Amino acid sequence: MKVTEHIKKADRKTLFSFEIIPPQKGRNIQELYDNIDPLMEFNPPFIDVTTSREEYIYIDKGDGLLDRKITRMRPGTVGICAAIKHKYNVDTIPHVLCGGFTKEETEYLLVDCHYLGIDNVMALRGDAMNHQKYFEPSKGGHCYATELVGQMNDLNHGKYLHDVIESDNKTDFCVGVAGYPEKHLEAPSLNNDLKRLKEKVDAGADYIVTQMFFNNEKYFEFVEKAKEFGIDVPIIPGIKPIAIKRHLQLLPQVFKIDIPEALIHEVEKCKDNKQVRQVGIDWAIQQSKELQTYGVPVLHYYSMGKSDNIKAIASKLF
Ligand code: FAD
Repeated sequence: MKVTEHIKKADRKTLFSFEIIPPQKGRNIQELYDNIDPLMEFNPPFIDVTTSREEYIYIDKGDGLLDRKITRMRPGTVGICAAIKHKYNVDTIPHVLCGGFTKEETEYLLVDCHYLGIDNVMALRGDAMNHQKYFEPSKGGHCYATELVGQMNDLNHGKYLHDVIESDNKTDFCVGVAGYPEKHLEAPSLNNDLKRLKEKVDAGADYIVTQMFFNNEKYFEFVEKAKEFGIDVPIIPGIKPIAIKRHLQLLPQVFKIDIPEALIHEVEKCKDNKQVRQVGIDWAIQQSKELQTYGVPVLHYYSMGKSDNIKAIASKLF
């Protein structure tokens, strides 16, 4: 079932969902199940599975030289989606990236999803690779998420690349895209970013999931501004509980988001990361309760591969 159908069916009740990261290659999928199991009692209608970009790794050749190889350390997004869908009877959403993929590869991936009965996909540009200063599209790939949404929308109309086939089998993807209450880090202004977000919706996006934020006012203002820009699809808030002290520097550095003074104060008072984890849980509960009262369609949690804190939060809300 599509995300938008889940939201409609819930009839204004806030749903619970979360995002997981594929294990590093060579690790067992059981680790993932062990983290999903405790969250299934909260009846997530869908689970997102992220996709990681390829990266350079350096292999010691033993002669003082390093061999540089390019590899994807956490492959398997679509396979994991299929495995989880089958095991838990839940909808799964693979994240599909522009970065690192040609349009052809994307088409093959979407065809796989269609055959597997995966009818929700999240269209994202992806970030620059570690060694790059700016995002560079792959040769023959998309530059912006809007173009990727366009490709998904084309498939929904039976239009495959190069028009080489007469298609009688249209896909029916429900497409999610990313939104940034504190603007995307590269965007010159929030208004400009919202203009780009509207372009994604016009290209066929059905819903938006936000970047993490720690101050609900930013989300409320974002939703109001989005309406002014004519964006009328559901905007699902993304919530991440702070878990370690270093998040105070790391999250603003990576995502260009603000952390409220009160939260900084609470985290700084902590003697160890166990206490920080509890502060993160308490803050997320307070945030989630307010968002639930506001009437958000879904509370979407970034689990980062660990479920104990998400379970502690969900048990107070769902
Ligand atoms: P876009 O919508 O393409 O926007 C990127 C930037 O370009 C923005 O600044 C935008 O304003 C600007 N822009 C857009 N169109 C144009 C245009 N035509 N001309 C000029 N500028 C333009 N990353 C991963 O690698 N894997 C994941 O699984 C993943 N999941 C995510 C899930 C969520 C909910 C979120 C919020 C982010 C996720 N990301 C993920 C991170 C995401 O890939 C990065 O934030 C990336 O830098 C931007 O992706 P986007 O889809 O928002 O890009």
